[in-house]
Amino acid sequence: MEDCLFCGIGSGDVSAKKVYEDEIVVAFDDIAPQSPVHTLIIPKEHYKHLGDGVPAETLQSLFSAVPEVARIKGVAETGYRVIVNNGADANQTVGHLHVHVMGGRAMSHGMVSFSE
Ligand code: 5GP
Ligand code: ZN
Repeated sequence: MEDCLFCGIGSGDVSAKKVYEDEIVVAFDDIAPQSPVHTLIIPKEHYKHLGDGVPAETLQSLFSAVPEVARIKGVAETGYRVIVNNGADANQTVGHLHVHVMGGRAMSHGMVSFSE
C-alpha cells in the first residue's frame, strides 16, 4: 500500500534494524523502544489490524515468529510481553498490523493503562 511506513520497511524501501525475516513476515527493532528489547513483527502484505481479513497462514507466520524473535533477542528464558494494538481505542498509531515483542526488564502486572 502506498504511503504506508511499514509496507516500506517490509519491502526494504525504508531502512530498519532487521531482527528476523521469512517469506511472509519481517521483524525489526522499534525506533522508540519502551523496554530494553522492543521488536515489531509485521506481515509484508498490508493489513490494518487483526480484524482486516488476515489469512490464517499469515497469522500463523506472525505468531510463530514471536518465540524466534524472543530467542534472537535473548529474552526467551527471562520472558517477554506480546502486544497488538488494534484501532483507535488501543492507540494504534501505525495502520499496518504489527506485533510488539517487549522484554529485557521486569514489567508491572497490569497490562493496560487508560487515558482519563
Ligand atoms: P502502535 O502504537 O501503532 O502499536 O505502535 C507503532 C510503533 O511503531 C511504535 O512503538 C513506534 O515507536 C514504532 N515506529 C513508528 N515509526 C517507526 C519507524 O519509522 N521505524 C521503526 N522501526 N519503528 C517505528
Ligand atoms: Zn502497510
